[in-house]
Amino acid sequence: MRSLCLRQPGLFEFQEDPEPQPPGDNEALVAVHAIGICGTDLSGYLGKMPFIQYPRLLGHELGVEVLQIGRDVSNVRVGDRCSIEPYSNCGSCGPCINGKPNCCEQLKVLGVHVNGGMTERLVVPAHKLHPSRQLTFPELALVETLAIGCHAVHRAQISDVENVLILGAGPIGLATLEFARLHSKDVTVVELSEDRRKFIAKHYPDVQVASLPPVGSSFSTVFDATGNAQSMSSSVSLAAFGGKIVFVGITTAPVILDDPLFHRRELTLLASRNALPTDFPYIIKLIESGQIRVEQWISQVENLEDAQEIFARISSGSLQAVKVVLMNSFLAGATTGFWGNKTKIDL
Ligand SMILES: [Zn+2]
Ligand SMILES: [Zn+2]
Repeated sequence: MRSLCLRQPGLFEFQEDPEPQPPGDNEALVAVHAIGICGTDLSGYLGKMPFIQYPRLLGHELGVEVLQIGRDVSNVRVGDRCSIEPYSNCGSCGPCINGKPNCCEQLKVLGVHVNGGMTERLVVPAHKLHPSRQLTFPELALVETLAIGCHAVHRAQISDVENVLILGAGPIGLATLEFARLHSKDVTVVELSEDRRKFIAKHYPDVQVASLPPVGSSFSTVFDATGNAQSMSSSVSLAAFGGKIVFVGITTAPVILDDPLFHRRELTLLASRNALPTDFPYIIKLIESGQIRVEQWISQVENLEDAQEIFARISSGSLQAVKVVLMNSFLAGATTGFWGNKTKIDL
């Protein structure tokens, strides 16, 4: 079968890989139809992702179809369309035992620490599959991105009287926004890019959007989705007395904390990493019931064959999109699958 390998930073190459072994008793063989591109993939492409070693098959935001199941599998059936929870955890360390597999001490993410979904078929533990009868493959590929925001909002335990500030409106900030809106009617987003501010104004008219934090305002919960150390530092000055800060974005730089301010306001600082298994079926239900809408996010659907060009265009800034989803055109019937013969959607 054909895979697309990131041979080294900046260079994708097709390769012929052996078919995966038949699934074990608790595993499933799946066909990869849709692959979302996210910041992690771009950092890998640019050689800036410390956890990626080369060569690597990228792809952790996946919409897949079940082809074959092991003897003991009961949560999915052959033919099901699924989202994959792309984190593999050991099951025996402290966090795994305490219900936090998202920060397992041995955590491995598909397409980051191990080869991911830029291939035709994969064998995965069946419990990592979350099926939906209604969602399309590109929508299923977006569930993982949404899960990052979902988990961050659950970490904050927002009550409905709280006002919320989200710093940064890339895909992670937008994912946070989707779930913050379910809990609070008073949400403000601060984003430097004018295009992204316009996108929010158009699709989220109930949300206040600005290029700078409103002067003199403070917020009971502040989410930082910028991954920028300076922004993360200054989030302390934007949180209300007794408030919470959640770092959703990640930086490799040290973050300086103004401790007198942090103490005087008795703030709570939370990190949010990946997502929990329960987030996946919860999100799928929210999309199915229309409480969360993601079709406006999928600004571009392309072929995996064109990945080299697409990654180059995204990194040079010539392709501006909220989310690009690659369809696996190697698969027999994939291009005539869920999107018909359409490769682009006009929004
Ligand atoms: Zn991602
Ligand atoms: Zn573990």
